[in-house]
Amino acid sequence: MEPKSAENGWTGKNGLIRDLLTRRETVLQACWAIQWWEEKSLLLSDGTPLTVIFPGWLNRGPGPDFTNARLKFGDREVAGDVEIHLDERDWFHHGHHQDPDYGGVVLHVVAIAGNGHRPLGKDGQAIPRLEAGLWLKQGLRPAFSESDHLLDQYESLPGRCGLRVPFAREGFLKGLLVSAAEKRAWDKAQTFMTGMGDDNREQLLFEAVFQSLGYKPFAPVFLSLARQFPLVRLSPLFELPYGKAREAVLSLWMGGLGLLEGEPQKADGPLRDEFRVLQKKWGQWREPPLGVPWDRQGSRPWNSPERRLVGLFHHLYRMMENGLLKQWMAFFVKLDEVRHEKNFKGMAASLLDGLFETPDWEIWRWNVSFVHPPLRQAARMIGRDRTVILMANGVIPFFLAYARQKKDPDLEKLLYRLYVVLPPEEPNHKTRFMENRLAFLSREGRSLRSQQGLLQIYQDFCGNFETGCQDCELPNLIYTFPANG
Ligand code: SF4
Repeated sequence: MEPKSAENGWTGKNGLIRDLLTRRETVLQACWAIQWWEEKSLLLSDGTPLTVIFPGWLNRGPGPDFTNARLKFGDREVAGDVEIHLDERDWFHHGHHQDPDYGGVVLHVVAIAGNGHRPLGKDGQAIPRLEAGLWLKQGLRPAFSESDHLLDQYESLPGRCGLRVPFAREGFLKGLLVSAAEKRAWDKAQTFMTGMGDDNREQLLFEAVFQSLGYKPFAPVFLSLARQFPLVRLSPLFELPYGKAREAVLSLWMGGLGLLEGEPQKADGPLRDEFRVLQKKWGQWREPPLGVPWDRQGSRPWNSPERRLVGLFHHLYRMMENGLLKQWMAFFVKLDEVRHEKNFKGMAASLLDGLFETPDWEIWRWNVSFVHPPLRQAARMIGRDRTVILMANGVIPFFLAYARQKKDPDLEKLLYRLYVVLPPEEPNHKTRFMENRLAFLSREGRSLRSQQGLLQIYQDFCGNFETGCQDCELPNLIYTFPANG
């Protein structure tokens, strides 16, 4: 039995904090999710009263630990993300200060405060801090070993919508998902509609492909690269023989990103030669490097910008023969020819794979950068998962806008068909979260469309109703939305 009066030592509050600090962050995440504090009012480090209206959605993927929390600092209501650390300094150790995904953090919950720099929010002010160790509930220790289980439970709570799903009308959820997916595609298409004209269509398509290939960490810098070296500048280079074109285009892109400076530390013979050739060519261009800051933090080595750029070069070399737009249209015509085939799904996927193939001789199939050791085995430069994202975020929305401008309903229909047959990208925390609630999906075929629908529902409902289901309209819609949307 714990002596109740001990305020210090292993059995008192200090002991509880010490025990907490030997654990993983999941323990403190569980305390935050369940709001397991002493029953007195919480205070921020600066003495401001903190009220937690909704702790936020648990995020086990990259980014803050809880998203869309709703809090009150004194009388001021605040919505945003919450990041949890045992030690405040982990904010910097984990590189969050350089990661834009953490720009929406409105509260830093820490077991103990550090005594150095405070993390700053996007307004340049110190992020409000809760020193959770001060508010831990006595008697909490037995629950420490249960934290993973508690978080699983918190994550899988069905929400008000999930509780109503079993009573949904026949076809309602499917209809909802289709409408949501189409809305998402159209929202993206709108961004292309604005400003799309005869003279800039190809460039817009080029930028869409380039940016989508950049994945989240590199998307902005890839877009800048696409603008610094626009298609009109690159087109004559793609008319050169393969090797010369590769040297010219890669030297511009890699030089622009600053990847050709100094000496390659770990590159082996052929890669070292590649570096020297590209470096020399970059020097001949006499171009200034791209003036946009970027770093490779947060990306997996095989998703390195070098591999993406090389993969993009091979794709473009294939597509530039008759012009990018015409070649994509030729792809859609081919798809249209096989649309009634039984195996349309498989055919569409393999036709798409063909557009992003890399020749066997490409040395970057075994390498990730000039400074990392080579891979043990060759890997695709642009895999199926990335291709699907590129279609969902770039190519399909672009051509939806194009079809609408050209009044081409057949192309529009074909694009929607593609949406249905393309596989979904890897699940992420948002789609997993929604699947937990709209559980019927495990019985439905998953497709790019169903996944995009889930993301839209998350954005429209879970992202907008930050009280954590309380004010959400979706549960009511489940009763009123007509079957088959
Ligand atoms: S906010 Fe709405 S859609 Fe999201 S889990 Fe709650 S009830 Fe469901």
